[in-house]
Amino acid sequence: MKVPAQPSVNIGTVGQVDHGKTAIVKLLTGESTDRHSEEIKRGISIRLGYADTAFYKCPKCERPQSYGISETCKQCGSKAELLRAVSFVDSPGHETLMATMLSGAAIMDGALLVIGANESVPQPQTKEHLMALSIIGVDKIIIVQNKIDIVSEEQAKANLREIEAFVKGTIAENAPIIPMSAHHEVNVDTLIETIERVIPSRQFDEKKPAKLYVARSFDVNQPGSPPEKLVGGVVGGTLLQGRLKVGDEVEIGPGRQATTAGKIEWVNLTTSVRSLHTGGHARKEVRPGGLIAVGTNLDPVLTKSDSLVGRVVGPPGTLPSVLLKISVEIHLLERVVGTEEDLKVEPIKTGEPLMISIGTATTVGIVLSARENLADMTLKIPVAADPGQRLAVSRRIGGKWRLIGHGVMR
Ligand code: ZN
Repeated sequence: MKVPAQPSVNIGTVGQVDHGKTAIVKLLTGESTDRHSEEIKRGISIRLGYADTAFYKCPKCERPQSYGISETCKQCGSKAELLRAVSFVDSPGHETLMATMLSGAAIMDGALLVIGANESVPQPQTKEHLMALSIIGVDKIIIVQNKIDIVSEEQAKANLREIEAFVKGTIAENAPIIPMSAHHEVNVDTLIETIERVIPSRQFDEKKPAKLYVARSFDVNQPGSPPEKLVGGVVGGTLLQGRLKVGDEVEIGPGRQATTAGKIEWVNLTTSVRSLHTGGHARKEVRPGGLIAVGTNLDPVLTKSDSLVGRVVGPPGTLPSVLLKISVEIHLLERVVGTEEDLKVEPIKTGEPLMISIGTATTVGIVLSARENLADMTLKIPVAADPGQRLAVSRRIGGKWRLIGHGVMR
């Protein structure tokens, strides 16, 4: 059997809940990213969804109909040429799930900002997600104006003007806007063509030691499996550099709390790579690009229910420092993002808790000292991070974490 190409790019889908992100991923991949029964019941994405696909182009047909996700052209039946394999990361669009969205943004090479044509622009999470992309530095953006089938032509035009006014002066100012109906599968070919033009595969340094950001983690064993059938925990994420091979020894940091000589400290985990999966296929070796599932020899209890999200995986001795105290240069936004009401961002106060999103990690820090734009914090859960790394800062306002600024690790 021919091994399909490994995905070379991670494309995020972001935007307000109910605007059709998951439906668009389904159209582009033939798969649903809603994999948890709880999510299906509630009709929203709770965790990061993911799905792989491949884009093809028919050499005989005219554009945009020549673009599709099938090896055989839907128009003329000719064999289509593979453009590239692609991974999708579907962010939850619910306002309480901003930490998950920020974690997903850390592994996106580009994003589709999905905006429903049937609602005024911007909705709170539309604004919040665009700000998150801007803070994380995801600037390859395509705006999908979805649900054009349920509004009149005039409403669609008015909505388009609202979108243009909203993105003016933002990172998405020059982003193409593709009108779509995910429900009626209208303009999928144009969207694929635009993705190919706007979101290039990232170039990675494969000679550096492997460094993987964990975005999901699982226990893949069926409940009640006999002990001899149990397989080790699985971590899913994206390689930022280097290559990973089956059999490689790896370190995962931060690991877990352990008591040594009466003192509680965080120790990294070490394990070996048991299996590698990406693009729907098992592989002996993987390179950066797309989402990768790494089977390990870890006790699956350690990986179940996303418990290792935010960790960094690499060869032993190569991980960033694991820190329980950080010093951060913070730039506050003028206004709180994501709330219905318009609130001014107050200065950072000593003693207040802040949510820090760095890489795929989320942690809460208590501010020890705040002066000008510098803050020292002590963290409840440590992070593995390098000086100079970007981070997002959120504050608890009205019972929810709201984005208030961005910063850099000192
Ligand atoms: Zn064709």
